[in-house]
Amino acid sequence: MDLRRLIIERKVIVVLDPAVLNTPADDFYSRFGSSIESIAVVAKAPSGRTYYNSENARQEKEYSDYFESYASLGDQLGINVYAVINAFSDEWFGQDPMYKTIDSEGNAIHTHVCPNRKEYWHYLSEISKEVVMKHAQGVILTGLSYINSRYCFCEHCRKEFSEISGLPADFNFDDVKNNPSIWEQWVNWRKSKISEAVNHITDEVWSVRKDVYIIPTVYYDMEVGGIKSTLELFGQDPLELVNLTGNLAIHINPWSPLLPDTDTQEYQDLLQELSFVKDIFVKGYSATIFYWGPISEQELTILSKLSDDLNIQNIFVYPNYPASYARWREAHLGIA
Ligand SMILES: [Zn+2]
Repeated sequence: MDLRRLIIERKVIVVLDPAVLNTPADDFYSRFGSSIESIAVVAKAPSGRTYYNSENARQEKEYSDYFESYASLGDQLGINVYAVINAFSDEWFGQDPMYKTIDSEGNAIHTHVCPNRKEYWHYLSEISKEVVMKHAQGVILTGLSYINSRYCFCEHCRKEFSEISGLPADFNFDDVKNNPSIWEQWVNWRKSKISEAVNHITDEVWSVRKDVYIIPTVYYDMEVGGIKSTLELFGQDPLELVNLTGNLAIHINPWSPLLPDTDTQEYQDLLQELSFVKDIFVKGYSATIFYWGPISEQELTILSKLSDDLNIQNIFVYPNYPASYARWREAHLGIA
């Protein structure tokens, strides 16, 4: 779809990434600055490298001022700039034996890190603090999940869960899956790690700037079982996360390429499953939609109707698939 059309669409906040749109910030704002209120810009890429000068992370040399130039100029123009941070999707630390995430058979997914490492939460906090000090008005945390329900069996996780559950240290995934009470412990324990990570990042960021939005993204994927899988596969509890930050972005169908037409039963089922956003609004909190992929007119129409039906104001759109999407998708669907 025409990027220009997408950028000036009333409801859409486009997520800019130099890998997709390598336009200098001044050119971009001179073309679109008067048509937009907000923009999102990738600050930390799936490679683990940053698009700004970081004291903590490695930088992507080619684009080392991309985020910073968009954020500072946007700030001068009165445009809200959201920084997108790939949280547990980090290929740099994913290769590191200390942080890698593995299943019970020892298979590692090197594009992601274990979500259960306090040192790494702290690292993400430092990155988040940097971007808000460089004029970001909000931080969008993507890749904020476990790979799927079979993760994580790194040494650290194995030891901790074996103590919680009473299972022997060499337990495997079937021992968890086949025992309903242990399965429940597994689901709740993994959920608590994602929530603790978000809590840690939020506290740290608000200690330096209280006026910024922290927006955790959660996966809602129809083909892997909808809202039940958000918790059971990915370890994300939307209401718990929104209680921590006051904000939430629901990433619609990250692993399934199609959206249901608005006149179908499937669409009604989708609305029903997402009706929990009412509880978010009742508390005075905010919810948005997040979407990635080379979006078509038809998909935009469906997302726009969905946001209207749910009373959601904004849709963040990353207008392509991330570089390692094929590998990410296979891993998250458990077909790798
Ligand atoms: Zn782990």
